[in-house]
Amino acid sequence: MEPSPENLKVAVRVRPLLSIDRSQDTIVYFGENEEIRVSDGEHYISSTYNKIFRPEASQDEIFDFVSPALGQTIKGFNCTIFAYGQTGSGKTYTMFGADWEMNNPAAQIYYENGAQMRRKSQLESIDHPLDNPIKQGIIPKSIAMLFQNTQEKEITYYSSFLQIYNEKIYDLLQDPRRDKALNIRESKMYGIYVEGLAEFVVENAEDCFMLLAKGDRNRAVRQTRFNHHSSRSHTIFQLLLERDKANKRGVLKKGKLNFCDLAGSEKYDKENTMAHEHVQELTKINKSLSALGKVIFCLGTGNATHIPYRDSKLTRLLQDSLGVSTRTILIATVSPSAGYAEETISTLKFADRAKQVMVKIKKNEI
Ligand code: ADP
Repeated sequence: MEPSPENLKVAVRVRPLLSIDRSQDTIVYFGENEEIRVSDGEHYISSTYNKIFRPEASQDEIFDFVSPALGQTIKGFNCTIFAYGQTGSGKTYTMFGADWEMNNPAAQIYYENGAQMRRKSQLESIDHPLDNPIKQGIIPKSIAMLFQNTQEKEITYYSSFLQIYNEKIYDLLQDPRRDKALNIRESKMYGIYVEGLAEFVVENAEDCFMLLAKGDRNRAVRQTRFNHHSSRSHTIFQLLLERDKANKRGVLKKGKLNFCDLAGSEKYDKENTMAHEHVQELTKINKSLSALGKVIFCLGTGNATHIPYRDSKLTRLLQDSLGVSTRTILIATVSPSAGYAEETISTLKFADRAKQVMVKIKKNEI
C-alpha cells in the first residue's frame, strides 16, 4: 500500500492466541501489502490497511507507527490515537502496556479470587509496565517521547483523564465514585472542552505516569467471561500543549493529544442472563460506538451535509479530532481465534469505514 496522507492512519493488530480463547483454531491469514483475511467458512472478509501488526509485533513497532503523528502535536495539530476492538482483543495491552491489568487493583482482586488464581508473590514479581520500556504501550511511550523532545522548548503541558460511562462524562482523576457528570462546552478560544474537568500542569513524564496510574485505578471495570477485567467506559487521557510565547503572527499555539481507549465492542450474551445494569452499559457502549462509526462514515462519503457528532458524548468530544487539520490514528485490535469470527469481522469492517475518511482527504488535496 502506498503511503497515505498524514491525516488518518488505520492499523490492525492481531494479538497472539491465548489459552483462554474460546477456540484454539485460528482464522486470520496474512497476505502481501498489508492485507488481512479472516474466514471461518461462514464469515469472510479481506482488506488492506496502512499497517497490519502480526502477533509477534513488539510494542516498539506499534509505537514507530504512531510516533510521526505525535510530532505534529508540537506544531499545534490535534492528534487522537484510539484503540477499537472487542473486549479481550488487546486494546489495553496496546494503549497502556503488557501486564497492565495485573497492576490494576480491580483485576488483582479477581486474579486472587478467580479460577486462574495467581499467588500474590507472583503478582508482586511482575514489574510495572510504566517502568519497563519493552512492556510500555503507546501512552507511556508517547509521554516519554514528548517530554524528551520538548525539554528545551517553552511549552506548558496540561493533563486530564476522563471516562464516558453510560453516556455521562466523569473526571477519572477527581471523581472515582462518579458522583458528578460533566458537560461538554465549545468556545472560539478553547474549542471543545469539558466544563469542570481538572487539568493538571505536568512537568515531566513521571507526573503524567502518576496521573495515568491514578486515573486507571478509578476506571469502571467489569469481569467478563474472558477471564479478565473488561472496561465498561471509554477513556480519554489528554495532554494539552501550550506554547508559552505567541508566534510572529501573535498566535498562541495549542495542540491536543488524545489517547482514547474505547470500551469493548461486545455483543449481547445470548447464553447467559445479563444483569439489567450490564445490559444498560452495553446498550450505551454499542450506541456510542455506532455513533462513532456513523460519523466516520459520513466523513467518508464526502456528501454529508450534517455530520452527527452530537449523537454521542464520544463523537462530540472527538469532533475536533476527526477531520482534515488533525491527525487521527485508529488501531483495531483482534484475536486470531475462530471463537470470535463475527466480532473480528465487525471490527475490521469498522476499520474499513475509517479508511474512507482517508480517501476523502486525498481527493480534497488534489
Ligand atoms: P482489552 O483491553 O481489549 O479488553 P487486553 O489488552 O486486556 O484486552 O488483552 C487481553 C489479554 O490478551 C491480556 O491478558 C493481554 O495481556 C493479552 N494480550 C493482548 N495483546 C497481546 C499481545 N500483543 N501480546 C501478548 N499478549 C497480549
